[in-house]
Parts: sequence; structure tokens; C-alpha cells
Amino acid sequence: MDESKENKSTLRIQEGVPHPPSINPDVLNRSGGKRRKKYSADEYAEGIISGNRTILSRAITLTESSLPEHYEIAQAVIEKCLPYSANSIRIGITGVPGVGKSTFIETFGLFIAGTGRKPAVLTIDPTSTQTRGSILGDKTRMEKLSIHPSAFIRSSPSAGTLGGVARKTRETIILCEASGFDTIIIETVGVGQSETAVHSMVDFFLLLMLAGAGDELQGIKRGIMEMADTIAITKADGPNRIPAENARVSFQNALYLFPTPLSGWKPRVVTCSAREKTGITELWETIMEYVSYTTNNSYFEARRKQQAIARMHDTIIDYLNNSFFNNEEIRLLRPEIEKQLQNGTITSYKAAINLLDKYYKK
Ligand code: GDP
Repeated sequence: MDESKENKSTLRIQEGVPHPPSINPDVLNRSGGKRRKKYSADEYAEGIISGNRTILSRAITLTESSLPEHYEIAQAVIEKCLPYSANSIRIGITGVPGVGKSTFIETFGLFIAGTGRKPAVLTIDPTSTQTRGSILGDKTRMEKLSIHPSAFIRSSPSAGTLGGVARKTRETIILCEASGFDTIIIETVGVGQSETAVHSMVDFFLLLMLAGAGDELQGIKRGIMEMADTIAITKADGPNRIPAENARVSFQNALYLFPTPLSGWKPRVVTCSAREKTGITELWETIMEYVSYTTNNSYFEARRKQQAIARMHDTIIDYLNNSFFNNEEIRLLRPEIEKQLQNGTITSYKAAINLLDKYYKK
């Protein structure tokens, strides 16, 4: 966004009045000031593949837009980028607020950048889709990683359904990979449904946990533990070193009781300290081991194919959703039907059918 222009504008009023969240920053840009150059799908793809970050960012914004004309060009760009997204590792990271996600990702991201890889960090924040505030977005996060020349950080759009956000994140992964980012880190706050969505778009799922609190205290459901390919006990430093080791042993014992996942990989529990940078190399080696194990037994490839099918489903649902709610006739009719619903003169089912009939022109 063109912030400098915004700041100079004489139309800017009252410092401190919060701006309403922008659903589509591209639209805002086009309505003020000079129009930015419009790229064709080919120009977008070429820019992305050549590693141009400005074009990558604009293409991501395009995939986040719900305007039909943006949707089409975004899909064309993604199509062109798809062949370039093979040689990557996609890692999902989750954990409750305060477990140390951003500190860990900063240390971990810098470590992998140091090995010559190019990390991209994408965040999914379910709270932002519900409340338009966010747990993840409000603080300054990953300061060093965000300015590292090999890294790219992008937070999820703060509008739309979780399914829509998941679809957009999957597309962002493809764009980042085509742009040369080979290690994709998808971060989500471990408080809701978003872990399942993240699990369905990554190769490796890492759960961060604290020592000294039972798993129920950490709000982590058993289902999320079952999804983890590795659990890392964070902040294993200073006086917390021994409790962290104890937690490691008890989580490892708990995991033995779970059925072996489809990957055949037995989930591990490790300890680490982002602050003291310990356990980071070992964790990365575990991920590498997982990748070679699942590549050898073909699970890696099979899972990606399965995820492609899930991506198709999400795309269809998201497309239909947009097409329906952006339909001019539906937009006109909806308030009237909603009023009937509020007055109790119609049932929800009948209201939905009336709108659907209108949409399908019955
Ligand atoms: P997030 O909410 O999960 O992203 O957690 P943060 O990364 O913001 O960390 C929460 C708090 O834990 C902060 O005060 C950090 O300084 C602290 N913290 C994070 N990592 C470590 C660590 O490795 N060791 C210690 N001792 N504290 C840490």
C-alpha cells in the first residue's frame, strides 16, 4: 500500500481514529491517486518466477481479493506458477498464545536461512476472521527475520471464512514457492479449527508446547496432538530446562499410546530454546529425516496429491460462495428476505431456498 501518499493527503483527519479494515487493499489503491500498472497474468507469473517481491506481494493481494475480475487473473497466475512449486518443504507450526511461536520462528527461520534455504512465513490467524482484531498481528513479530534478504513474511487476510482464508493461504504457498522460497512455514495460533486447515496444507506439522502445564491447561485438544509429526517443548532454558525434559518424556509416553499415523512416522518429542538457540539444529534434522522417510515410503507425494484434491474442493466452495453473495440480484433481494426472517414470516430454510431459486433463476 502506498502509505507515504496516504500520510501526505490533506484529506487525512483526526490522528488516532482507527481505519476500518480494508477487505481489498488493491481496490483502495486504485480509487485514490495514480493507478498502478496493471499486469497481465503472464507478467505476474514472470515477475514472481524471477523473484520480484513487489510483484509477488501484489499477486498475493490479488488472490485475497473477492472481486470476480481479480479472481480470474489470480487463478491464471496460480496455474502458471504451479509447475514451479515442487521442491519445497511445507511446515505447519501451532501452539497457544505465549508458547513462543514468533520467537521460535524467528530463530528457526534465521537458522534455515543460514543453511542457504529461503524461508517464507505465512500466518493464519483465526481470531482475525472472527473479530477483525488479531492475536498474532498486533505485536511486532520476527523483527530480524522480516528484514532478512532470504526471507519473506506475510500474514493472512483478516476477512473471510476460515475455508476462504485456507484457500488463499494454499495459493500463497504456490506463489511463494514459484518465487524461489523453498521452506514454507505456516503459523497458526492454537485456539481453534485452523490447525486442521493448516494440517491439510503442509508436509510436516510441528506442535509447540510449554513445560509445566498439562495439555488440557494449554487448550490443546487431543486431536491436535494426534496431528503432530513432532512436538517441541519450548523455552527449555535456565530453570525451565529440567521441567522441559520431564515434559518431553511424559509427552513422548503419551504419544506412544496413539495409533501410528498413516505416514508410518512415529512422532517425536524434542526440547528447544529459541532464546538460547538450542535444539534448533536437531529439530531441523528431524524434519529432514521425516522428509526422507516419507519420500522413501511415497507418503510425501501421496499426501500432496490428496491436498490438491482438498484445494480443489475449497476453491469450488469459495468460488460458489463469492459468486452467490456478489450476485447483483441476490444483493438486492437479501435484505428483504432477512427482514422477513426477522419478522418471523418465513423460515430460514424457505429464506435460503428463495435466494437460491433467484440465483439459479428458477
Ligand atoms: P507467541 O505468542 O506464541 O508468538 O509467543 P512469543 O514468541 O511472543 O513469546 C512469548 C513470551 O515467551 C515472550 O515473552 C518471549 O520472550 C518468551 N520466550 C519465547 N521463546 C523463549 C525461549 O526460548 N526461552 C525463554 N526463556 N522465553 C522465551
